[in-house]
Amino acid sequence: KNVLITGGTGFIGKQLTEMLLGRGYSVSILSRNSKPNTDAISYYIWDVSSQKIDEAAVLHADYIIHLAGENIAEKRWTAKRKAEIIDSRTQSAELIYTVLKKHNKSIEAFVSASGIGIYGALNGEGICTENTIPGNDFVGITCQKWEKAADLFADLGIRTVKIRTGLVLGKNEGFLKKLAPIFKAGFGSALGSGKQYMPWIHISDLCAIYLEAIENENMTGAYNATVNDSTTSSSFSKLLAKEYGYFIWLPNVPAFALRLLMGEMATIALAGRRVSSDKIKSLGFRFKFKNLKRALVDCVK
Ligand code: NDP
Repeated sequence: KNVLITGGTGFIGKQLTEMLLGRGYSVSILSRNSKPNTDAISYYIWDVSSQKIDEAAVLHADYIIHLAGENIAEKRWTAKRKAEIIDSRTQSAELIYTVLKKHNKSIEAFVSASGIGIYGALNGEGICTENTIPGNDFVGITCQKWEKAADLFADLGIRTVKIRTGLVLGKNEGFLKKLAPIFKAGFGSALGSGKQYMPWIHISDLCAIYLEAIENENMTGAYNATVNDSTTSSSFSKLLAKEYGYFIWLPNVPAFALRLLMGEMATIALAGRRVSSDKIKSLGFRFKFKNLKRALVDCVK
C-alpha cells in the first residue's frame, strides 16, 4: 500500500517515512522542491499558494498523512506570517481534497497533524481531553482551521484522524536541536515562571501513533498525542541540563524578555496546559517513552 506524506521532508516526516518503509509500505512525498526518486520513495511537487499540484501523488495514494505547514516557531508572528502558517496547512489540505473530488477517488484514511495548542495556551486549568473547548488565541484558532480542513475528507466518507501533537522530542531535531547549543554551553534555564506545563512526546511514539492511525480502522476523529506526566518548563530544563552534566544555575528567562524577543510567539514558551492521553491509550496504544528522563537520554546521547 502507498502512503502519501505531505511535508514528508521535515522532522516528523523523515522518521515516519523510515518507519513506514520498514513496515513494507511504499511512500510518496509532496514537497515544494524536487528530489530524485529512490527505489522506495517517490517525490511529487506542489505549490500550495498557486494551487499547483502533481495530481499523480494523490491518485496513487491509499493513505494520506498531512504534515505540511510553515514552521510555527521560526519567524515572528506578523500578520503576513500568521496567514502563511494557516494557509500552508488549510489550503494544502483543500488542494488535495479538490483532486480527490475531481477524480472521484477515495482513499482509506486521511490523517492530519494538529497540535495540543488547540486548547489555547492561557484559558483554563485542569487536564484537556479531546472534548475540551478549543482556545481563541492564534495557535488555538490555527489548529481549529487546520482540523476543519481535515474534516472535508470526512465529508467525503473518508476515515479522518487528527493527531493533536505535543512538543516532539527527537535527536538533533525540532525543539531539542534549538535548545542544544544553549544547554550544551551551560546556559540552560527555565522560561517565565517555569510552572507552565510542557506536554511532550518522543518522536518514535509519535510515528507509532501515525502508523496506528492508518492501520487501526477504529481510529477516527481527534487524538491527543502526548505523554500526560505534568512536566513543566522548570522540570524539563532541570532534566535537560542534567543530561549535559550540570545543575541549572541561571535564573529563569523572564517573560518580558521573551516577549521582547519573540513578540506574541512567546506564548508558546510561556504558557501551557496539561493534556490527557487517555483516548489514544484506550485503543490499546502504549507509549514506549513515558518517562522524560529516558526520553531525553535517548535524544541527547
Ligand atoms: P517541519 O517544519 O520539520 O516540516 C514541515 C514540512 O512542511 C517541511 O519539510 C516542508 O516540506 C513543508 N512545508 C513548509 N511550508 C510549506 C508550505 N508553505 N507549503 C507546503 N509545504 C510546506 O515540521 P515537523 O516535521 O516538526 O512537523 C510536522 C507537522 O506537525 C507540522 O504541521 C507541525 O506544525 C506539526 N507539529 C509539530 C510539532 C513538533 O514539535 N515538531 C508539535 C505539534 C505539531 P518541503 O520543504 O519539502 O515543501
